[in-house]
Amino acid sequence: MLLEVLKFPDPRLRIKCKPIVKVTSELAKFAEDMLETMYANKGIGLAAAQVNRPVRFLVIDTRPRDEGGRYDLSQMTELEKQVQQPLFLFNPQILVKEGKTTYDEGCLSVPTYFETVERYEYIEVKGLNLENKEFLVKVDGLLSICIQHEIDHLDGKLFIDRLSTIKSNRIKSKIKKFGYPSPEKEDEDNLEHNL
Ligand code: ZN
Repeated sequence: MLLEVLKFPDPRLRIKCKPIVKVTSELAKFAEDMLETMYANKGIGLAAAQVNRPVRFLVIDTRPRDEGGRYDLSQMTELEKQVQQPLFLFNPQILVKEGKTTYDEGCLSVPTYFETVERYEYIEVKGLNLENKEFLVKVDGLLSICIQHEIDHLDGKLFIDRLSTIKSNRIKSKIKKFGYPSPEKEDEDNLEHNL
């Protein structure tokens, strides 16, 4: 079932999400709906906060695809290749963060905007999988960036909050005044940057 993705400046994107107690079958079904919604919107990550459910959960699939839509894992880092994707992560908690990296981030909740954001390069994150089992992810590359972007959502934070004050305010007031461009004007090249 496709879910509606909230867009900035919707105040529901600013809620601090609550941890789940247990991964129930209902939450597992919700996780599948989120994955379907993420793929349908050509995103590589989606947080529960973005579909109006304030719980600490995210789905991610950063695996690159070739022109025929087949997975091309050759561009992934060695650590990324070791993480099973799509990645379902309940109650994610970053235990280790090292180094710095930047990436041109976009977001399904701030469509058509792409800006360079600084993140930690390497992270270790623990969380619960779909079977309610705790596991640890040690990763760098785009997958690390994407996990950090989605965890921000769970804390009510958006990538446009992480820009310089001037740039951040300019983008926010532009969106509030004019809304978003129509979808057909979207730049196809940027779709893999929708975190
Ligand atoms: Zn996002």
